[in-house]
Formats: sequence, C-alpha cells, structure tokens
Amino acid sequence: MSAVNVSSAETAKFDRLAARWWDKDGESRPLHDLNPARLNYIAERVALKGARVLDVGCGGGILSEALARAGAQVTGIDLAPRVLEVARLHLHESQLEVDYRLISVEALAAEMPATFDAVACMEMLEHVPDPGSVIAACAALLKPGGRLYLSTLNRTPLAFGAAIVGAEYVANLLPRGTHHYAQFIRPSELAAVMRGSGLALEDLSGIDYNPFTRRVAITTSIQVNYLACARKLA
Ligand code: SAH
Repeated sequence: MSAVNVSSAETAKFDRLAARWWDKDGESRPLHDLNPARLNYIAERVALKGARVLDVGCGGGILSEALARAGAQVTGIDLAPRVLEVARLHLHESQLEVDYRLISVEALAAEMPATFDAVACMEMLEHVPDPGSVIAACAALLKPGGRLYLSTLNRTPLAFGAAIVGAEYVANLLPRGTHHYAQFIRPSELAAVMRGSGLALEDLSGIDYNPFTRRVAITTSIQVNYLACARKLA
C-alpha cells in the first residue's frame, strides 16, 4: 500500500481555495455547475437511498452533500486539511450528515475493504501521482457488485485547448496551473487499470460544459471531460 500517493503541491493548491469552495461563482464554479449532471449519472445506475457511498477526493463536499441529500450514507475523504474543514463546517448550513475523514484511499481500503455499494472519485485522478493505485483502492473498498464512478480529463489536443488554454487562460474560469496536460488520462488507460483491479467497465460518457451559459450535458463525446462507470466483479 502506498502511503505517499499524494502531491502536496496539489493539495496545497486546493487548500488555498478552501474558503471560497461553496461560492458558486468562485473557482469551484465548474464543480457546482457539473454537480447535478454527475449526481444524476450516479443515481441512474445505483439506488442511493440507504446505500453506503464513498466520495474520494471529496473537496469541500459538493458531491458528498448531494449524495447525502439523495438518501445515501456518505463518507467523504480528502488529503487537503483546510478543504476538509470547510466540508465539515458546511454541514452546519446544509443540516446533512457526511462522515468526513482526512485519510488516503489506500489506507481506508486497508481499514474497511468491501464496505461500499458505490464509490465516486470525481475530478481528482488527474491530480494524483499514481491514479492506478487510487483505482485499485477504490475497487478494494467496493462490495462485490458495487459500482465505481470516475470523472477526469482525457489527454487529447481538444482537452488541452478547452480545459487548460480555454478555462485557465481565456475564460479565467480556473486558476492558472490547475491542470497539467501530462496528468490527463485516456479512457483506454483507465479501462486497462480497471480490468486489472477486477472492475468491469459499464459506461463511458462525455461531459459537455459551456462555462458561459453554464449548460451541462452528458454526451457520447469523451474528448474532454468524461465519466466512467464500472462494476466490481464478484
Ligand atoms: N471531487 C470533488 C473535488 C474535486 S477537486 C468534486 O468533484 O467536487 C480535487 C480534490 O482532490 C481536492 O479536494 C484535492 O484536495 C483532492 N486530492 C488531491 N490529491 C488527493 C489525494 N491523493 N487523495 C485525496 N484527495 C486528493
């Protein structure tokens, strides 16, 4: 088990955004805009009411809270302490219950294997030194038949143009340096790692996001931002 599969430069970057995490017009705006669509993607594929769900790299809890509101029993983990503190504080406002823990996914997998009906890991893999280790740990945390939901950025010229040049330099939607092209992940790479971790890929869908209209659509084009759903084999 890797105890060091984290880039402290990355988590520090998110910690600097902690105070504004719930500002829908701040740096986390894309996460707020994408949230209903990704919650729907999950809810279409697993019964959330009463389900045990883990949110890996939960940040300030935008998805964790939505999952809890849908009736799931949610655990959220992250390695950025200030961000996690904001997530905890926000529960006072939302009146929801989420169990937030500062722990790596690898350590949690050793502590409570085969516990969750669903695991979500959204917009996080492209910030981690070894995404394969995260996926293997997510698989270990799932009950047999449980589902893993991932979202990340594809390593294509189009994604470079949209997610880095467009979002960071033209639209000033994200702080410069938020994303590094080399850490974007091709769906084929994700699928290979999933297979090696006992996961069967069930779906790949694109997320089409227009930051100006704030319109989000789930599409078949996985060229930029995409979602994957996989089932843990028994
Ligand atoms: N998943 C959330 C937040 C995405 S931002 C959402 O989509 O709304 C990326 C998050 O990943 C940040 O909160 C950052 O602190 C976290 N992160 C980065 N590396 C991590 C690691 N190795 N382990 C856990 N969390 C990590």
